[in-house]
Amino acid sequence: MEKVVIIRYAEIHLKGKNRGYFERVFSVNLERALKGIRHELHRTSGRYLVANFDEERFEEIMERISRVFGVHSCSEGLLVPNDMDSIFEAATRVAPAGGTFKVETHRADKRYPLTSMEVNAAIGGRLLSFRRELKVDVHSPEAYVYIDVRENGTALVFGSFVPGAGGMPVGTSGSGLLLLSGGIDSPVAGYMMAKRGMTVEPLHFHSYPYTNEGAKEKVKELAALLSRYTLVGRLRTVNVAHIQEEIHKKCAADLNVTLLRRFMFRIAERIAERMGAQCLITGESLGQVASQTVEGLTSSNAVVKLPVLRPLIGFDKEEIIERSRKIGTYETSVLPYEDCCTVFLPEHPAIKPKLSYIEEEEGKLDVEALIEEAMQTFEFIEL
Ligand code: ATP
Ligand code: MG
Repeated sequence: MEKVVIIRYAEIHLKGKNRGYFERVFSVNLERALKGIRHELHRTSGRYLVANFDEERFEEIMERISRVFGVHSCSEGLLVPNDMDSIFEAATRVAPAGGTFKVETHRADKRYPLTSMEVNAAIGGRLLSFRRELKVDVHSPEAYVYIDVRENGTALVFGSFVPGAGGMPVGTSGSGLLLLSGGIDSPVAGYMMAKRGMTVEPLHFHSYPYTNEGAKEKVKELAALLSRYTLVGRLRTVNVAHIQEEIHKKCAADLNVTLLRRFMFRIAERIAERMGAQCLITGESLGQVASQTVEGLTSSNAVVKLPVLRPLIGFDKEEIIERSRKIGTYETSVLPYEDCCTVFLPEHPAIKPKLSYIEEEEGKLDVEALIEEAMQTFEFIEL
């Protein structure tokens, strides 16, 4: 009898001919998530099993696996030969000490000599005489004993399902460059795209010396928290302080944010192209702030050719906060450090700036030289 973690996967099933490819990426991702913990990963039909693992780190293993996209659910279980005595012995360990229970059997091996109902009855009956405190309740039991008879002469016995993260394996839906601020929204945006299988590479713009080391540490922490899902342990940063200074000096104050956002998009596009990312990702949500009106979004889109994905576009702030709490980035996001956008923040930002007005104000700047200067500050950080 061997203690294992059973991993069931989700949408991968749907991908027809691509299934082999999806499964390969998925197992590489599981390995990445379990890096540093002793284990073996085995594939059986329709399942993965983690075996021979460091038992002291069991909780951590379950936690890490449940965050991997593509995981539908996982269970702590026992792997045994498929004869009734072995299954029963495992069932005695999975069954509760007392109260009501139900045995539920699934047979992947349809040639197995007993039907599911017969296994339920036999194991249920033996459990009842083995432990007098137990009672069967087939309608609303307090506990379950699940038996999964596999095709290869083995059976899995377990008591519960831990829901997984769902989604598709990261790496199966292209790659995107995430504009990661220190706020609440952009980490959630990155999570959403990774959930659909995209490789998400974070890029942060800072305004050193206007922003301090604490702000940088905060973003590194956010990127690290996000990497538990995206499996990307890298962060790219670029300094835009000189751009903010120039905008502040030469352009209309109400366009501060709009103009800076256009610089960010241009710089992001260059970096994306250099690294082969296929799109930009932001945490923008329609109408959330002045720069996120449809006019604001259009003015940033106008300076790039790459598609800009905004997975939070239709989310309320409340919904975003709820998700950020769930994925564990909220507490870090609300730490009080200056973001580069709050330096030089105008009192009355333009809400629906006309493109002609924006271009006229931007015309006062040497856009190309400012971008070049920013590119010189590019940093690549391994987290
Ligand atoms: P919050 O509204 O919680 O502060 P936010 O920082 O995401 O979240 P905005 O400041 O309005 O909201 O920025 C909109 C989007 O622009 C962000 O979601 C992010 O994608 C991008 N962005 C803003 N500031 C930066 C930055 N300093 N570095 C990288 N991307 C940024
Ligand atoms: Mg912000």
